[in-house]
Amino acid sequence: MRISTITNWAYGVTVVLTVLSGGAFMLSAYSATRERTAVEEHLALDSLGEELALGAEERTDEARLYVMRGDTRHLEAFQGREGEERRREAAIKDIREWGAAPAEHAALDAVEQDADALDKIEAAAISAYQGGDQADARQSLFGPEHDRLQTSLLGNVTRFRELTNARTQAAMKDAQSTSDWWGLVAKALLAVTAALFLSVLYFILRRRVAMPLMRMTGIVSRLAKQDYDVEVPLDRRRDEIGEMNEAIHVFRVNGLERDRLDAERRQDQLTKDLILQMLHRLQACQTQGELAEVVALFAPQIFPDLAGHLYIMNESRLALTSVATWLDPQRSEPAFPASACWGLRRGRPHVSAGAHSDISCQHLDEAETAGLCVPLTAQGDVIGLLYFEERPPAELAAEASRLYLELIAENVGLAMANLQMRDRLTNLSTRDALTGLFNRRSLDEDLNRHARTEANEQLACMMIDIDHFKRFNDEFGHDAGDEVMRYVARILVDTVGDLGRAYRFGGEEFTILLPGASDAEALLLAERVRETIRSAPLSHRGRILGSVSVSIGLAAAKGKGPVGSLLTRADAALLEAKSLGRNMTVVGAAPNEGDKMRGSV
Ligand code: GH3
Ligand code: MG
Ligand code: MG
Repeated sequence: MRISTITNWAYGVTVVLTVLSGGAFMLSAYSATRERTAVEEHLALDSLGEELALGAEERTDEARLYVMRGDTRHLEAFQGREGEERRREAAIKDIREWGAAPAEHAALDAVEQDADALDKIEAAAISAYQGGDQADARQSLFGPEHDRLQTSLLGNVTRFRELTNARTQAAMKDAQSTSDWWGLVAKALLAVTAALFLSVLYFILRRRVAMPLMRMTGIVSRLAKQDYDVEVPLDRRRDEIGEMNEAIHVFRVNGLERDRLDAERRQDQLTKDLILQMLHRLQACQTQGELAEVVALFAPQIFPDLAGHLYIMNESRLALTSVATWLDPQRSEPAFPASACWGLRRGRPHVSAGAHSDISCQHLDEAETAGLCVPLTAQGDVIGLLYFEERPPAELAAEASRLYLELIAENVGLAMANLQMRDRLTNLSTRDALTGLFNRRSLDEDLNRHARTEANEQLACMMIDIDHFKRFNDEFGHDAGDEVMRYVARILVDTVGDLGRAYRFGGEEFTILLPGASDAEALLLAERVRETIRSAPLSHRGRILGSVSVSIGLAAAKGKGPVGSLLTRADAALLEAKSLGRNMTVVGAAPNEGDKMRGSV
């Protein structure tokens, strides 16, 4: 029941009880008034009876004293008493009108008759005394008749007093008990009203209001501190407190929901920030290795519950190899043919197994966890694959995560394509298309860089020219000439290895730079190059081209020597090798020397 209903009822009942209690008090007061009236009547009648008796006695005494002594003062007193007697008789009349009982009336009548008879005897005695008949007068006043009448009067007065006494006492008692009863009723009603008031006050204020409010105050203060762990007991009461409780419950549910959304938003913002950081770093990557490092560093931060691989398509475009791995993925192989992936085949993200019932990629083993393959594409070309694997309880299918995964894949693909494009452009600008060796431009750059940064280190330089190259062109065609050129270039690269770099200087001339090599090492290498080229006869499209030989001019710049003249000195040594008969190595003069070393077969 609602508190307002309870208070309205309590208010109504209290008003009714208060009115009843007031009525009882009024009735009690009325009975008390009746009791007081009865008391007054009792006293009045009692004193009247007493006066009637005394008055008759005193008049008799005065009459007798006058008759005995003849003193007129007693006669006057007798006559004065007579006046009082009249007033008393008038009072008796009034008493009759008050509603005295018939027995009282009868007693009063008897008193009056006796008093009248006594008056007559006494008046007659006084008259006889005044007429001189003193003895007769005394006889009348002291005679038996007078005594009888006097005794009768006293007896009737006594009876009257007893009657009135009994009646007024009964009336008094009745009024008093009525007054007491109504007083008791009034007090009882007041007590009930007070008890009702106090119990309603206790019930509503303490049980229904104060206690739930105190409990709710604690809950509300914890909720105000955003402590949503606090339990809000569901109070099913349909009253104001119940409604308040329900409101607090809703407030907590809303708070929890807001907290959850806030946490989600914060997490989402964190993910976006990390993705942004990752994209910035991807754009700044110089090599594929750096790109792989960035992906392996950021992917587990963005998706802490997803392990993965970054695969790159091989040159052959038939297989993929993992270049980055994070959080230890279990299902996917480190390298696999492109045809083994449904994501690559379809050119779109593909979820394998796990809770999803789609077909599994062949590069994944059988397992319950789901794997997601997102192809990396750029300008329509598939250049790699991002693979993610759920680590329970993570969910691959979460829509927001999928969007981010695809966003990352798109950007990694673009960054990778940019790097590959840059590599191609760099190759174009630094490599020779026919032989794959570094070009003349690279040679100039490397010489300048060496002069700038490694000026204290010795640099050896070989100028290599194919002997009688024109003959291959003339006899076997330019394709054969090109093949000879590629052959020589391959031998140069293989022989030099990590010791230096080979360049195509122009035409059928090549250069080798050997940083840090001593004169003897350089000469040894030059001879090895020359001998290796010479050792194998060459054929092209089934035709024997014969053996190829080269002439080599060798020069070195020592310490802070003049790198600028290095090429000239090596070239001069080469010319000398040509002029001395070809297929030989000539070591050029040091900047201020005239001696030369030669090697030939
Ligand atoms: P020597 O022993 O004096 O060096 O004689 P050589 O024939 O090697 O030298 P020469 O300078 O007379 O001839 C070089 C020829 O190389 C001229 C040119 O047609 C040819 N040549 C230059 N570049 C290429 C090329 O890229 N491919 C082909 N097939 N021939 C080239
Ligand atoms: Mg030449
Ligand atoms: Mg030549």
